[in-house]
Amino acid sequence: MELSSLLNRFSEPETLKMAKLGRELRAKGVDVIDLSLGEPDFDTPQHIKDAAIKAIHDNWSHYTPVAGYLDLREAICFKFKRDNNLDYTPENIVTSTGAKQSLANTILALVDDGEEVIIPTPYWVTYSELVKIARGKVVEVRTSAANHFKITPAQLEAAITPKTKAFLFSSPCNPSGAVYSKAELEALAVVFRKHPGIFIISDEIYEYINFVGKHESIAQFSDLKDRIIIVNGLSKGFAMTGWRLGYIAANATVAKATEKLQGQFTSGTSSITQKAAVVALTTDLRPSMEMVEEFTRRRARTLELVKEIPGLTCFEPEGAFYIFPDVSSYYGKSDGTTTIQHAADFSMYLLNTAHVSSVMGDAFGEPNCVRFSFANSMGNIEKAWARIKEALAKLK
Ligand code: PMP
Repeated sequence: MELSSLLNRFSEPETLKMAKLGRELRAKGVDVIDLSLGEPDFDTPQHIKDAAIKAIHDNWSHYTPVAGYLDLREAICFKFKRDNNLDYTPENIVTSTGAKQSLANTILALVDDGEEVIIPTPYWVTYSELVKIARGKVVEVRTSAANHFKITPAQLEAAITPKTKAFLFSSPCNPSGAVYSKAELEALAVVFRKHPGIFIISDEIYEYINFVGKHESIAQFSDLKDRIIIVNGLSKGFAMTGWRLGYIAANATVAKATEKLQGQFTSGTSSITQKAAVVALTTDLRPSMEMVEEFTRRRARTLELVKEIPGLTCFEPEGAFYIFPDVSSYYGKSDGTTTIQHAADFSMYLLNTAHVSSVMGDAFGEPNCVRFSFANSMGNIEKAWARIKEALAKLK
C-alpha cells in the first residue's frame, strides 16, 4: 500500500508513544505510574462545567465561526489585558481545537519550503515535527542546564541566517521548566530588532504554572508585537485538556491566514467548549491558582525525592509541571541483564523495572535528559520516586 510521502517527514509524538506503552502494561495488570503525560490531574472547575451544561441546554449546538464566537474572542482580549497588559481586538484572535492546532496553523501559515525555524532545545516534541510537515528546516540551538536551559542573545544571533523565518519557543518551557524573565526577553528583543523579517512564535500555554513570579510575554515589547504570535489555550491553566480550546493572538494578516487554513481542516472548535471558555477566561482565577499551589507542593517534594538519588542532576523548574534531570551518568551501567546506553534505554528500564513511565529527552532535542511529570497525586509521586530509586540502585 502506497501512502503519502508526507508521513515519512515527521514522527509520532514520543509522549503519546510512552503513554501507550504504559497503558499496554497496565492492561496486563501491572501497576504503572504515569509520569509521562503532560496534563493536570485535576477536574475542570465547577463553574466552567456549569457553563458548558448551560450551553447545551441553551442549544449552542451549531457550527461555529471558524475563528470562534465573537464573545469568546472578546473574552480572550479581556484576558490579555487583565493578565498581560496587552491590547488586542477580536480580529487578532483565532481560536482552535487546542494550542497544538494553533501552532500547526501558525507554522503552516508562515513557513515555506526550506525556510528555517530556530528552536532552542529542549523543546516540546511537536514543534520540530510541525516545521517538517511545513517543509521548513529546523535549526536547533542547544541550551544547557548551566544556563537554565535558556537561549542567549549571542546564540540567537549566531543561528540567524537570511533563510530564518521564525523563532519558536515556550516560556514556561515544556520540558525544562525554564521561565524567561523580562530582562532575558528584552535581551532577545534587541537581537530581533536587528532582523525585522523574523516572526516570533511564543507558546505561553503554561503561563499560570509559574513558580518564580509574574509571567512575562515577549509581546510586551510593542515595536515587535506585530510579528509576535502568542499561542495559548485552556488545557493546562484550567485543567481542560479534553475540551480542546487553543488560541493565537497575532497581527490581523497572520490571524486571517490561520483562519483560512483552519477553515479547510476543522472549522471552528466545539460550541460548548467555547461558551464554557468565556466563563473560564472572564471569572475569578482562584481555582486555577489553587491548582498551581498544589503543583508548587508537588514540585518541592519531587525535587527532594530526586536529590536522594545519586547520579541525577536536576535543574529546578521555574514553571510548567515537569522535571528534566540529566541521566547521562547512568549510561554504560547495567543491572546484569539490561545495559543503559541512552535516555531511551533509561526510560524503558524504568518502565519495565520500576513500572514508572517517563519520556526520553531525545524527543525534546536533549539526549542526556529524561522528562518526568509531577502532574500526578502526591501519593503516586512518592511511590513512583521510591520505585525509581530502587531500580536505579541496581545499575552498576
Ligand atoms: N504547547 C506545549 C508546550 C504543550 O506542552 C502542549 C501540551 N502538552 C501544547 C502546546 C498543546 O496544548 P493543547 O492541549 O492546547 O493542544
